Amino acid sequence: MDFEYEQEIKELSQAAKRFYRQGYQMSNGGNLSIRIAGRELMLVKATDVAFDEVGRETAVVTDFDGNVVAGDKKPSKEALLHGALYRTFPQIGAIMHCHSPYATAWAAAHDQLDFATHHSRMKLHGYVPVFDTHSYAVPKEYFPHILKELAEHPGMCGFLLRAHGQVTMGRDMREAVYLAELVEETAQIAILS
Ligand SMILES: [Zn+2]
Repeated sequence: MDFEYEQEIKELSQAAKRFYRQGYQMSNGGNLSIRIAGRELMLVKATDVAFDEVGRETAVVTDFDGNVVAGDKKPSKEALLHGALYRTFPQIGAIMHCHSPYATAWAAAHDQLDFATHHSRMKLHGYVPVFDTHSYAVPKEYFPHILKELAEHPGMCGFLLRAHGQVTMGRDMREAVYLAELVEETAQIAILS
C-alpha cells in the first residue's frame, strides 16, 4: 500500500484495534472506512480480516463502486454501502460498522433505538432507526431506502441492522468511533433499564 495513505491507514488501524479491544467487534466481521479527502476514493478494511489485524497490508483503497485502486486484497463486502454513503453525503468522512452485542440485541426486537439518556438523545439527534436488510451484508436493493431516510433526517448519524449490527457516520473516524460507542452504550442502558 502506498505511503500516500499513511495518515488514513493509521486512523483506520487505531479505530479497528480499539473496537476489537472493547469487544465491539470480534472475529473477522465488521467494517470501517475513511474517505480520501478531495477524491472519489476511500480506504476500507479488506474482507476476512479481523479488526485487530487492520493495517497497511490488510486495507485497500477503492473507488465508491468498490474497485481497488491500491492494495492487493479484496475489499469488505460492505464497501459498496460505504461508497454509496460517501457519494451521496459529502459531509461523511468516515464510517464505522460493527456487530456490537447490545446494539445488535436491541435491533432484534425494536424498530428504533430508545434514548435512555439525555446525552444520547442530543448527540444522536433523536433518531437511530433499525433497518431489516435480511442479509449478512446490506444488499444493494436496500441502499435507496437507507439513503432516503438519511436525506429526510439531516441529523441522523447512525442506524441499526436487524440480526446484523450497527453503522455510524462521522465527519472523521474519531467522530464515527464516538458515535458507535454511544450507540452501543445507549442500547446497553436501554436494555438494562
Ligand atoms: Zn456486518
